[in-house]
Amino acid sequence: MNSDTCNYLDGNAAAGELSRIFTMDVTAAEGCCAQCGTIKRFAEAHLYMQCPGFVARCPACQHVLLRLVNVGQQVFLDVRGLTYLRLNTA
Ligand SMILES: [Zn+2]
Repeated sequence: MNSDTCNYLDGNAAAGELSRIFTMDVTAAEGCCAQCGTIKRFAEAHLYMQCPGFVARCPACQHVLLRLVNVGQQVFLDVRGLTYLRLNTA
């Protein structure tokens, strides 16, 4: 096993941080990777938390899907790695 295989969590680990911003459960949402077109639930993303926030990467191609950074009382959210995020309102 190399050191790159176990340094991430699944997207469910982002639930707490994302619930500060969204009222809906984003980890259950289905997202489309802007790089490779893979469509998966956000919970299946590879989550890297070795920063003041986290980076979520596509489980298929490792493209950055979403970045969240906490800076004092502000949160920066970068979602340009997702073509879309489909949230279920039911
Ligand atoms: Zn991808």
